[in-house]
Amino acid sequence: MVKNGKSDLSLAQYEKGEQQFLELISSLPKVSVQGYDKDRKVIYWNKSSEAIYGYSHAEAIGKKLEELIIPEHMRSEVIALHHQWIEKGIPIPSEELPLKRKDGATIHVFSSHVMLKEHTSTPEMYCIDIDLSEQHAVRKQLKHMASTDLLTGLPNRRQLYEVLQSRIKASESNNNPFYLLFIDLDMFKEVNDTLGHSWGDELLRTVTHRLRACLKDEGMLVRFGGDEFVIVSNLGLSEDQVHQLAQRLTNSFECSFDLGRERVRITCSVGISAFPSDGIKPDDLLKYADVAMYQAKAEGGNRFRMFDSTLGDRLKKQVLMAVQLHESLQNDEFELMYQPQIDLETGEISACEALLRWCPADESQSVPPSEFIPIAERTDLIVLIGQWVLEQACQQINDWRNKGIYLRVDINVSGKELVQPNFFENLDECKSGYNLAPKDIGIELTENILIQANNEVINGLKAQRDKGVDISIDDFGVGYSSLSYLRQFPISHLKVDRSFLLNAPENEFDSAIMEAIVNVGKKLNLSIVAEGVETEKQANYCQRLQVDFAQGYLYAKPMSAKDIEKRFYASLSD
Ligand code: C2E
Ligand code: CA
Ligand code: CA
Repeated sequence: MVKNGKSDLSLAQYEKGEQQFLELISSLPKVSVQGYDKDRKVIYWNKSSEAIYGYSHAEAIGKKLEELIIPEHMRSEVIALHHQWIEKGIPIPSEELPLKRKDGATIHVFSSHVMLKEHTSTPEMYCIDIDLSEQHAVRKQLKHMASTDLLTGLPNRRQLYEVLQSRIKASESNNNPFYLLFIDLDMFKEVNDTLGHSWGDELLRTVTHRLRACLKDEGMLVRFGGDEFVIVSNLGLSEDQVHQLAQRLTNSFECSFDLGRERVRITCSVGISAFPSDGIKPDDLLKYADVAMYQAKAEGGNRFRMFDSTLGDRLKKQVLMAVQLHESLQNDEFELMYQPQIDLETGEISACEALLRWCPADESQSVPPSEFIPIAERTDLIVLIGQWVLEQACQQINDWRNKGIYLRVDINVSGKELVQPNFFENLDECKSGYNLAPKDIGIELTENILIQANNEVINGLKAQRDKGVDISIDDFGVGYSSLSYLRQFPISHLKVDRSFLLNAPENEFDSAIMEAIVNVGKKLNLSIVAEGVETEKQANYCQRLQVDFAQGYLYAKPMSAKDIEKRFYASLSD
């Protein structure tokens, strides 16, 4: 008998070959081999099939392929492919498939198909499935790792973008707004620098627990990076509910954090933007929430702020101003003014404070330092500006010295400048470049800068102080006002903020504070400087309290170097 051109002998050989092939492949561990007749009923089920699909041999035999291991949504396609093979000889391609176990779980396999007895009336299809569970688990784990922050276990920035995209789609399709909350820890950097990075990490983990506890299934919490977290709210949360959530978030920082033997108190600032009213792109929503967060910080931190368009306008103005400041720096469009400090005992000028003025070519662009310094501080421009101020002050002192005028100049230094790795070296170099003595230039710092200073900064300041440099705490009384801290800082002068002097002679409360500050300062051997002395009455009051130095409009407004010279020569002829 000849079948499809094969003799009986060759057919027997062919079938023997098929049998051997089947035996070989079914002995492979972890490879499921199943045989199906032309109606896709199981005729063969090896040991590995039992393990992989969960059906015993007895359970499987006689059952249909599609009813056993094919998930419902794939069934018609599988049947159609099988028909095509039987009828038209088109083989089913090998591919990775998610099939179904007896217990209903999905199992990922790489499935290949062989047709035996293909040219007979009883063709048999053999499926050879390799279990890919392990590879799949690894792949899943890799995907999880790529989208998860390893320190906190929270979704990371990458996943945030995916979630935002899908939230935006959902929001657009059912016309329901959602919110983005940007959370930033206040003073985290200081804790990290003082207690070390492992405690910083521990703090971030504890913060994560607290934030999570505040979030009652109202959205998703993400670690954005560093000490920044983001919450993407669910759809349909009302503005009121978002306010309540933000309030809960800030309140959750009321209790201190225990880190080893230290107890740390920090707060957080939250900025909120809304989709679609504030922005419709992920980056815009993040940017606006960030702007609102900065506003919350600027108002003192430990609070939340909603974004609104006035904040956006302000942001644009600030960005523009930063660009103009940069240009002015290149074009040398700044000037230093000098305000004398008067020795209250002798009435003579003891030193002066250098105060920066911005003089852009277009005068209408000019704004006072109280406006442009904070912007320069946010953009790091302050480091370049500070360098300009130092250089300018050194040059001026040298110039005055050549004219026989010996005056110490105090410069204002921002926190960002102080943490530059070469700040102190640079200060010394600049002075020696003009042959100045260390004490020719004094430094004014706010208390907040000192309290946040790390050991390196404090040691740098100590070294300066040891060389005789005058270091003043500026605006004393409006910051932490911690008198007990004063002893630890290498300082020489206490400049009492002018707000205390404003009403001190009459107002009992202000005068009590003023007196307390002066007394403690004196006990610590610090020189006291009163700022903003505008009237004779205030001057007399300062003298009564034995304040050492005074600065204010009563004596002189900040003036040009030339005017300082005139004043100096005038005092000689007195
Ligand atoms: P500040 O260091 O507290 O400077 C004193 C401010 O009080 C100056 O304002 C000065 O003009 C003003 N002032 C002095 N006497 C009186 C008075 O009797 N009455 C009143 N009402 N005000 C008086 P200015 O020049 O506008 O500077 C504002 C702030 O800008 C400064 O406050 C300082 O924090 C910052 N700043 C100024 N120049 C620089 C600088 O070169 N670098 C840095 N980082 N900050 C600077
Ligand atoms: Ca100052
Ligand atoms: Ca001041």
